Amino acid sequence: MMQLFIPLNFLGFVYREMKQGLTDMEAMFTLMREEREVSDAPGAAPLPPGPGALVFDDVRFAYRPDRQILKGVSLSVPAGKMLAIVGPTGAGKSTISRLLFRFYDVTGGRILIDGSDIRQVTQDSVRQAIGVVPQDTVLFNDTIRYNIAYGRPDATQEEIEAAAKLAQVHDFVLSMPDGYDTMVGERGLKLSGGEKQRVAIARTILKNPRILILDEATSALDTRTEQEIQQALRTVARNRTSLVIAHRLSTVVEADEIIVLRGGEVAERGNHSELIAANGLYAEMWRRQSEALEAAEAAAAAQAAA
Ligand code: ADP
Repeated sequence: MMQLFIPLNFLGFVYREMKQGLTDMEAMFTLMREEREVSDAPGAAPLPPGPGALVFDDVRFAYRPDRQILKGVSLSVPAGKMLAIVGPTGAGKSTISRLLFRFYDVTGGRILIDGSDIRQVTQDSVRQAIGVVPQDTVLFNDTIRYNIAYGRPDATQEEIEAAAKLAQVHDFVLSMPDGYDTMVGERGLKLSGGEKQRVAIARTILKNPRILILDEATSALDTRTEQEIQQALRTVARNRTSLVIAHRLSTVVEADEIIVLRGGEVAERGNHSELIAANGLYAEMWRRQSEALEAAEAAAAAQAAA
């Protein structure tokens, strides 16, 4: 029963020291509206409604002309399915999310949401269709209510509370001095990483996007917080097209497909058991992880016996 010996933080264990997450893209757009890198095509229409099928077709990208970052990445996530992206730091995982959010335009190939090339429709409609749960959520210096409803300012108190309950943050909010009117952020009450992430999940549940981008935390949280967050993430990802930059064993095992990204290219793809059977890079990462853990456990047991 190898699984018993492997903590939730699977790939994070290997790459923890190389933490480099996705920034809070949604918040960044509010804070830096004038710094847009891309603009709408003339006469661009909003993205038509759809179930959330996602395609990357031979996507190429460079931040600077002299250094190619994505070298022809193709992937397809059917509506409602989950794709996990794993790979070492610098492989291009966050770049994939930034391109999907249309922070930048691709330099080759195309990205389709429900058959529409995201360059042909309005940026606002693309961003409306995508919810991002970043590793490190930026909270505005405002009430917790504002911070949850951000992205859907017309939400009613009932809707906000329902989302907060699903994200397992409602009881925490009620324990604060002024409940939903409590000021948070740098100048208000400071929240822990786990609390902020649950606020981000509530925000995303309320936004109800057709596609979810999730950047799992690499840093270890205490087990109870971890379980609560995993539960809340399952709620938001259920039946929703999800792209996860994965650091958790439970996520990679449950994903419909895993891609291993290395040097801007898809090195391997398949589900967990297929990739283990393929005995390549993913299987190697898994093995190293297991060995490191067994060693750590043996050391702990020896210490306990001494
Ligand atoms: P990952 O998420 O897999 O760690 P990233 O997608 O963040 O990788 O980065 C891929 C490569 O692109 C890295 O070499 C990184 O240094 C480079 N990079 C990321 N953001 C920028 C940027 N804004 N300008 C220039 N290079 C960048």
